[in-house]
Amino acid sequence: MASSFAERGWTHPALALTHGLSSDIFPKLFERFFADEIYERWCQEGIEWQLHCVGGPGTGKTTIAALAASHLKTYFWPHGFPVISVFVREEVLTHEVEFLEDFLVAMYQDLGKWEVCKSDGTENDYTEYLQAYSEKPQGVRSRLGLIRRILHRRLQKLKNESRVFLIVDGIDRCSTSLRLLLDEELLSLPKSGVRVMITSRNATYETWIARCEHQDHGDPEEGLEEDIEEDPGEDPGEDLEEDSEEDSSVREGGAGEEGSSIYYIAREPLDVFLTCKECKSVLCFPCFKAGRVCGNRECQGNTQLYEDYDHVDVQLCTSPDVVKEFIAWDLEREHGDLGLGSSARKPPLSALGLSFRNDHLGRAQATVDEIHDRANGHIGLAKARLDLVHAAQSVEEARQYRYQLPSNIVSMYEAAIKAVEAQSPHQRDLGLKVIAAAGRQPNGVSVRRIQELLPTSLAAKLRSGEDILEAAKGFLAATTRSDNPHLAFFHKAFYKFVTQRYNESLQNAISELARDNLPKTDNSYREAPMMGKPEVRFEPGTITKEPAQITPDRLKRTVTLMEKVDEGPSRAYILRQGTRAWRI
Ligand SMILES: [Zn+2]
Ligand SMILES: [Zn+2]
Repeated sequence: MASSFAERGWTHPALALTHGLSSDIFPKLFERFFADEIYERWCQEGIEWQLHCVGGPGTGKTTIAALAASHLKTYFWPHGFPVISVFVREEVLTHEVEFLEDFLVAMYQDLGKWEVCKSDGTENDYTEYLQAYSEKPQGVRSRLGLIRRILHRRLQKLKNESRVFLIVDGIDRCSTSLRLLLDEELLSLPKSGVRVMITSRNATYETWIARCEHQDHGDPEEGLEEDIEEDPGEDPGEDLEEDSEEDSSVREGGAGEEGSSIYYIAREPLDVFLTCKECKSVLCFPCFKAGRVCGNRECQGNTQLYEDYDHVDVQLCTSPDVVKEFIAWDLEREHGDLGLGSSARKPPLSALGLSFRNDHLGRAQATVDEIHDRANGHIGLAKARLDLVHAAQSVEEARQYRYQLPSNIVSMYEAAIKAVEAQSPHQRDLGLKVIAAAGRQPNGVSVRRIQELLPTSLAAKLRSGEDILEAAKGFLAATTRSDNPHLAFFHKAFYKFVTQRYNESLQNAISELARDNLPKTDNSYREAPMMGKPEVRFEPGTITKEPAQITPDRLKRTVTLMEKVDEGPSRAYILRQGTRAWRI
């Protein structure tokens, strides 16, 4: 990073182009991410939608980003396809426009490594930009315009012969205004041939549920014709814009037929799909690969199909079974064969390993089970507890602190609370107070109740539930057990951290909330708790009940599809964005 910017001087300290990968990555934790149809489709030609990987603190987002960069370089560098990764290493709350400028310069310079870019005719303009930078005759805003134009000219040159992959990790570390600026830049990139992957604690945009509407969906044979030209193995993106003459798969009883709605609702919601340009009906990729086109009689099969979305959300969470395998693997690769049957390459027994082997109570497996139970499916917490076990010399020492919140987890939470505190005074106050309010119940508190608990000065300024989630910086997950949305902590261990008052700022927020909500002597609070506090528009347009008349086409995700918070680990569901649980 330092050398690439050497000619220009100061670079925003939050920006990095690489992230070192740890040697202790358990392959199974991430292999399903790279084998999934969403990632595979995102890598293909002609894709313009962004891939958004969403997960709470410690779910491995940065590792996924670094692994994806490495994976893409392995497969696509030999074909001459550039891969650029940008890691936002810390909260960006100052010099935001400079961050954006450095981001664009980093992309431009990184692409300059490729032979085709060395003669793309942007050199003189870039020299002009560097001159503007060093002499500073113009402000950063005009320099931004200059570097943006040069970058897009370079990308246009690449567009016809290459795919450019851009990975941006930790975009949620940017302030709200920088996030909006970055979103604008990222949205303009796919048109210049760049496919974008981001990682974030919160999903940003709303998504819609779609289900395949073809009458032969699910039947591998039905609708297949002798003379279908498409090869199922071909990249479907190549032919998406072509008119299709295939019309013989249009049958009686196609999409939209009366009485068939229930059938469509029973179908799997789709993450990636095709939409008919004429009638907007949905076709899944398996149907497309089976040679089907739009099943609507009105379209007569003469239609164009396209992907009608600008991003796909993937919720990162790890299967509890894989977490358990990881714990056994990590213990045995560090301490030797403990009889846990993991796939690790096992060194000679360490002092702790010997102690476990000589233990007649079989506490090696018990240690795995306990770490697994307390981590509750969260890989970051499992690692933190494993670090404590690794430092122990005996079984007794390893199990000494198993009922306490380990100090390294407390430090991790303390550091994350600092990110809440680093926000603007309003967001800081809101973030700490909603965390304090959500901590009143282990399984979460309704949004309405949180609003009641907040001081009027904070509650009155809320425009949407997203304000709350953003201010809480990923510590809160939205879920529901009824029509009434609830907010809960992203993990039960954090509930312990909040309620046992480890953190002074949170302790103050809890005390202030309690003081503000003391019962009034005239009982006026109980009679008019919401006075002066407009109701939070938490999920605009959410269907909270089954609609009376079921529509056969695209249905918005309903809150009834959300899992309950008290079943297993809390996940960062954000109702208005409709992200889905996705096990890796
Ligand atoms: Zn289908
Ligand atoms: Zn159609």
